[in-house]
Amino acid sequence: MSAARMPAMSKSLVVQKFGGSSIANADRIRRVAARIARERATGGDLVVVVSAMGDTTDELLALASSITEDSDPRELDMLLATGEHQSATLVSMALHALGVPAIALSGAQAGITTDGNYGKARIAGIDPKRILSEIEAGRVVIVAGFQGQSVRDPHLSEVTTLGRGGSDTTAVAVAAALEADRCQIFTDVRGIYTADPRLVSDARQLPVISYEEMMELAHQGAQVMQGRAVELGWVNHVVIEVLSSFEDLPGTLIKEDPFVEQRNKVRGLAHDRNVAKVTLVEVPDRPGVAHAVFAPLAEAGVNVDTIVQNVGHHGTTDLSFTITRGDLAKTKRILEPIVRELGFREMTTDSAMAKVSIVGAGIQNAPGYASRMFAALAEAGVNIEIISTSEIRITCMIAEDQVETAVRALHKAFALEEPEPLLQGELAAEAGGGSGGTSKTGA
Ligand code: ADP
Ligand code: ASP
Ligand code: MG
Repeated sequence: MSAARMPAMSKSLVVQKFGGSSIANADRIRRVAARIARERATGGDLVVVVSAMGDTTDELLALASSITEDSDPRELDMLLATGEHQSATLVSMALHALGVPAIALSGAQAGITTDGNYGKARIAGIDPKRILSEIEAGRVVIVAGFQGQSVRDPHLSEVTTLGRGGSDTTAVAVAAALEADRCQIFTDVRGIYTADPRLVSDARQLPVISYEEMMELAHQGAQVMQGRAVELGWVNHVVIEVLSSFEDLPGTLIKEDPFVEQRNKVRGLAHDRNVAKVTLVEVPDRPGVAHAVFAPLAEAGVNVDTIVQNVGHHGTTDLSFTITRGDLAKTKRILEPIVRELGFREMTTDSAMAKVSIVGAGIQNAPGYASRMFAALAEAGVNIEIISTSEIRITCMIAEDQVETAVRALHKAFALEEPEPLLQGELAAEAGGGSGGTSKTGA
């Protein structure tokens, strides 16, 4: 992403993003506007990114489903983008009422271009000209999050959305493009916790988490940050601070963590209820079968998560894989003719699945974590159906109705409620004035 500010600009620039619950009603919008006005009074420039109010995006999706089961992706993105138009304009109006000059911009007006993948578009680039000229004119810029435009030719631009939770990605991308000094994600919790605090009452807030660990947590269901936003922050060296929009307290920094190896620990847990399992029974054990199954799914945009193939017996094998629940109907539709054509015995599906994951850079150096995880789940009576791993993560697929039991048992087994002792290097950094604790972006 291109650097955009003139070197001569000496003022600080902060990007602040407010999530749906922070601006869920008129009263909260006024409170957020007052917070923005306070930040602005410190003298720096400010770009604000907003999500849609409260559950607006879910409500728009439900409205579309009540009209048709099969909404056109282009029309759906046009519809969903209106949620963020609404909130951006209302926040801007609330600032006007406080006497603060402000202007709301859609993603397209803010210069955000994406690929043409409706519903899960990726940001291709940001041309910050308009944002910069509005800042220059003394306005606080309110950018509608979660959206951009895909431009096939200069006369044909389309509205696209960035996937659920995509306002986080807008904020980090804008911070990178503007070389902002800070990127703050304001939400309804105080920061990143060792597990979803809605599920685990003694979950502990982490002061710092590495990009790598946060990315794994986000991809495994910790909805507090969109995974893609963390990835963009990592690539562009944007330090991200996640903090409460209701309380004035220090949040959690997501950044390069120089002590990540030394922590040698499980840092957090994630869970995801949005999982369905498909099993193809007695699949002919010969070359080309996996390709015949997965190529059409990939073409239809179905994201296959974990794939397990058993050792074959008597020329056949069983093949299981997981997908998100929303893709189950489409997957069945695509695979039914293939199951018949290739002579599989049957296809079974289970939509009441979930996954729980332990994440921590320490996992890669020590062999004991998997067995501790399996022991804790066994003791809690939780059956593991499929296991998958990355270098710093172990994930178990389980029945959805056992998620809470599993997460609480794992939190206890890894003693995540206990504060982490400061490491030697951290103590030294603190004594020397601290290098690791600021939230300056080093882009
Ligand atoms: P916003 O509307 O501000 O984008 P989200 O609902 O997307 O907020 O994300 C915040 C929610 O994420 C919290 O209310 C919390 O329940 C959930 N969450 C899941 N995992 C975690 C975690 N590890 N730390 C903090 N919050 C988490
Ligand atoms: N409003 C969008 C959603 O609900 C984007 C966001 O909240 O970040 O997914
Ligand atoms: Mg969110």
